[in-house]
Amino acid sequence: MTTDTLFRETGALLAEFGIALSDGDLPVGSPIDGSRIAAVQRHDRADLDRMTAAAERAFIAWRSVPPPRRGELVRLFAEELRHHKQALGRLVSIEAGKILEEGQGEVQEMIDICDFAVGLSRQLYGRVIASERPGRRMLETWHPLGPVGIITAFNFPVAVWSWNAAIALVCGDTLLWKPSDKTPLCALACNALFARAIDRFGGASEDLRRGLSQVAIGGPELGRALAADRRVPLVSATGSTRMGGTVAPVVAQRLGRTILELGGNNGMIVTQSADLDLAVRAILFAAVGTAGQRCTSLRRLFVHDSIADTLLARLQRAYAQVRIGDPLEPGTLVGPLIGEHAFAAMQQALAEARAEGAEVFGGERVLAERWPDAYYVRPALVVMPAQTALVERETFAPILYVMRYRDLTDAIAVHNAVPQGLASSIFTTDLREAELFTAAEGSDCGIVNVNIGPSGAEIGGAFGGEKETGGGREAGSDSWKAYMRRMTTTINYSRDLPLSQGIRFAVDAS
Ligand code: NAD
Repeated sequence: MTTDTLFRETGALLAEFGIALSDGDLPVGSPIDGSRIAAVQRHDRADLDRMTAAAERAFIAWRSVPPPRRGELVRLFAEELRHHKQALGRLVSIEAGKILEEGQGEVQEMIDICDFAVGLSRQLYGRVIASERPGRRMLETWHPLGPVGIITAFNFPVAVWSWNAAIALVCGDTLLWKPSDKTPLCALACNALFARAIDRFGGASEDLRRGLSQVAIGGPELGRALAADRRVPLVSATGSTRMGGTVAPVVAQRLGRTILELGGNNGMIVTQSADLDLAVRAILFAAVGTAGQRCTSLRRLFVHDSIADTLLARLQRAYAQVRIGDPLEPGTLVGPLIGEHAFAAMQQALAEARAEGAEVFGGERVLAERWPDAYYVRPALVVMPAQTALVERETFAPILYVMRYRDLTDAIAVHNAVPQGLASSIFTTDLREAELFTAAEGSDCGIVNVNIGPSGAEIGGAFGGEKETGGGREAGSDSWKAYMRRMTTTINYSRDLPLSQGIRFAVDAS
């Protein structure tokens, strides 16, 4: 593969989506070799302002389309995704550096959430509530909210948008997407496929075509402008805790709503009774997959003292077999880091670990001669004497800190003693240990797994985490409620007017 090949292939993929880029002011690189694969036009605040106005106009039309009909548009979008799964997955690999399997997996996740949303479009159930007064019927119904601002991170350049988009669309909302400025091509491709679905949907007005789903390209400044806009009642933001800490107060200042999906620092406890074959496979995928650049990547491993040497030896053997290289080549398991700053952060963390007395295996740069402008690393296993401040922060790279424990209750306490609360897991064959970990006094995370690693969520469950991870929930279960406004209605079908709580308040007005 040469630099020129990637550039040409990107052009061909974009052409498949019907995108012809004229040269823009935002260069787009591929982490595979660090080369420039395109340039796109950045949007400014005035563009965003126009887009928000268009999203408002489209909302006026979309909110009164019956939900099952909205679901039909999402169904058509899923058809486009099925048809272009290979191409979109490949674009994800080129732009974000994921191996092909994972690029395709992301598109499958989009298809899955669309299917979920289509079903949901006939199940936006409210309640009928017993009234304390005679001749009354009390109802809770759900209505569309308005334009939804969606800010996404580089590492899931298509799936995270679709979790929001598919659900928001059937809920009757319109979409304003600010993707990471590292992955704008994936966003443009998704929106181009969505435009095809609108064409096939039939009967969409010009307002709907323009404003139902839009992409605003730019960096943090554009995200801040989106967060500050009162016309956007909900901002769903995915990214670092630092970003969430900026976005949340801006939206709160105007009393808007947020869904925050922020950084994780995910742990696994491997107990004395664990099935080590399963554990080794799960650890490998969770710690090394996506080059450690998943929000749910495994970063902290707590191993019972009695099995720690055995497990560590097996992990070292497994790590040695992992193929690092071009993510487009079949057989590669670990692709590149997103860029130089990620590599620098990883090296900094490893240096700190060594200074704290850790034993570090791996972590060095590889393939630098072949790709001097890209950053491939050997995933690192770091045996720590204790969970220090270094381990408590998220370093977005393939570093697995390994720590020993003797008592499960102590291990759970240390596991929970980090600011983040996204994903966690326990490997055990002891029912009591599994139940303890999933009980109130167990893991404090949003995702708590037993004999499965912390990463690789299915769309059916609500996804998100606690504490500094932000508390937001997306995808399955009843996450849809965040995208709608709740209405409580009391209907009086009697000829009387009793007040609630038995209050009397009357004058003789006859
Ligand atoms: P990032 O925070 O640098 O950027 C994420 C998005 O936020 C980008 O679109 C960026 O332009 C925008 N942004 C950054 N600062 C902003 C600001 N001050 N105001 C408004 N918008 C701003 O994150 P990243 O490097 O792209 O992604 C990696 C991080 O995202 C990791 O911390 C990872 O754990 C997290 N992440 C979390 C989830 C989750 O579901 N919890 C999923 C994916 C990634």
